[in-house]
Amino acid sequence: MTTKTRRPALKEIVLPPTLTVKHLADLMKVSPIDVIKHLMRNGVMAAINQVIDFDLAATVTPAFGLRAKSAESSTGSVTEALEKSEKVDDGNLTARSPVVTILGHVDHGKTTLLDTIRNSRITEGEVGGITQHIGAYQVNFKGQKVTFLDTPGHEAFTAIRARGARVTDIAVLVVAADDGVMPQTIEAIDHAKAANLPIVVAINKIDKPEAKSDVVKRQLTDHGLLMEEWGGDVIGVPVSAKNRTGIDDLLENILVVAEVAELKADAQRQASGVVIEAELDRNRGPMATVLVQNGSLKLGNSIVAGSARGRVRAMFNDLRRRVKEAGPSVPVQVLGFSSLPQAGDRFYVTSNDKTARAAVAENLQKSENEKGLSRVLTLEGVMTRITAGEAKELSLILKADAQGSLEAVKSSLERLDSPSARLSILHAGAGGVNESDVLLASASNAIILAFNVGVEPSAEQAAEREAVEIRSYDIIYQVIEDVEKALKGILEPRYRDVVHARATVRAVFGAGKTGRVAGVIVNDGRLTRGVAARVVRNGHTLHDASISSLRRFKEDVNEVNAGFECGVGIQGFEDFQEGDVIEAHRRERSPA
Ligand code: GDP
Repeated sequence: MTTKTRRPALKEIVLPPTLTVKHLADLMKVSPIDVIKHLMRNGVMAAINQVIDFDLAATVTPAFGLRAKSAESSTGSVTEALEKSEKVDDGNLTARSPVVTILGHVDHGKTTLLDTIRNSRITEGEVGGITQHIGAYQVNFKGQKVTFLDTPGHEAFTAIRARGARVTDIAVLVVAADDGVMPQTIEAIDHAKAANLPIVVAINKIDKPEAKSDVVKRQLTDHGLLMEEWGGDVIGVPVSAKNRTGIDDLLENILVVAEVAELKADAQRQASGVVIEAELDRNRGPMATVLVQNGSLKLGNSIVAGSARGRVRAMFNDLRRRVKEAGPSVPVQVLGFSSLPQAGDRFYVTSNDKTARAAVAENLQKSENEKGLSRVLTLEGVMTRITAGEAKELSLILKADAQGSLEAVKSSLERLDSPSARLSILHAGAGGVNESDVLLASASNAIILAFNVGVEPSAEQAAEREAVEIRSYDIIYQVIEDVEKALKGILEPRYRDVVHARATVRAVFGAGKTGRVAGVIVNDGRLTRGVAARVVRNGHTLHDASISSLRRFKEDVNEVNAGFECGVGIQGFEDFQEGDVIEAHRRERSPA
């Protein structure tokens, strides 16, 4: 006999593209534990604060009588449509000029080099042109153009990248020939590599008698940059930013690298690109420098960038000249935003003001939705994604107290092998975790492992803001073990011990059958019968078991609050002394 069961129609629930397990449980009005159990049944180990995506959430909702509907598909996202249309190839692609960022160690001459290039080239044929700092400039060289971002250093570069925008095509690494490879040189190399950028090395300060170009080249080889003349593919150009020598050679080589990269754009379409700088001018209002990446930006265009929108009222190039149009790879200062966009925001020209307004509303809503959402990328989270086949790589940034220990950790990690995921160490350096590490982690979805080193306060704040996990260790094998477990998909959640009540022993009583008990005053929290508790004397734990008896005025009670006195018996312990502290504690899952 066959039985037909009529399934009741599932009620619809609208979910955002990503949300935490707790958020999902709240929306469904069920317990997060039940959601976690359901995910586990589907083979997904998820913590309560873990962010899951819509598709995964949609596999859970039917169990609670609900059908998931995507918040985005219900409205038809304007921003997504803009993003998509940007990628469409209309068959009008033509070559565009390269965008270059200058990176390197402090005092190696980045600013001087930027100034020298600007001054030597920009005025050619532009007699009397006064350059203006707008965050980027373009130079002419042998009939071709090169765009330089005018904010040197990898922090600015990676901060923009951390916001999801790709701006640079080529990195010029400045290394002073009298100083050689320094910590920030290594950072810069790693930042450029993480962004998949070709590197041209400018070996600077060759005018100095103590300059040693060959030493620099050898040091760079140790960091994975093998010079062309030694059979590698990295071009090293000797320059003196101060004496203006070697600059043509440098530009020539930048163009060679650009040619290989085959950079293309469609100048005929509506413009899109990235906001590089934005400031409030007291007289003119919001001024934003944008780098056009595709299409052409024109006067009168409706424009949207993050939560700011406007209409292009005027545009200025890096020579303070008014321009009517700006094509691919051209930086221009735009007047006409109604509020300040943020550096790193992508901008789009929209067909009309209405679309721009809709996009702004959407972007505002999106940032509002994301506010309460913990998006922290954790080792555990990456493991879950590797196990689910969604991730194929675990990216790490390693910091250690000394070069020796750094090498030890690094080489042990590199030996780890997993068929399911590749391990990629984006950066390894000696010294505390700094803000630049956090930005790199954020831009590259990496996790920071700190071995025997602290975290700088600014890095701590950045990690909070950018939702980056920093895991601290003081034993090498634990680092290795955790990473290995994450790769294998068997990393246990981290627990920490939390003391939830404290009591001080005031007297000791012999209590007949039940043995000796402690007369205590509860200092904080609440003592509960049966919970785990330890006896601490002078900071040392003497015994760790559970509360076996709890009495007030000869009555057995279940709990005693702070401020009250009571008698406490601890399982398997009688040797109380006045002054001992009883700590009731529990293991709690560490927040991500
Ligand atoms: P940044 O910190 O990398 O931007 O370095 P700066 O451009 O501020 O340069 C640091 C110092 O090095 C300044 O005193 C410059 O004058 C000097 N400097 C830069 N380039 C050269 C060079 O090619 N030769 C010499 N001798 N000094 C240079």
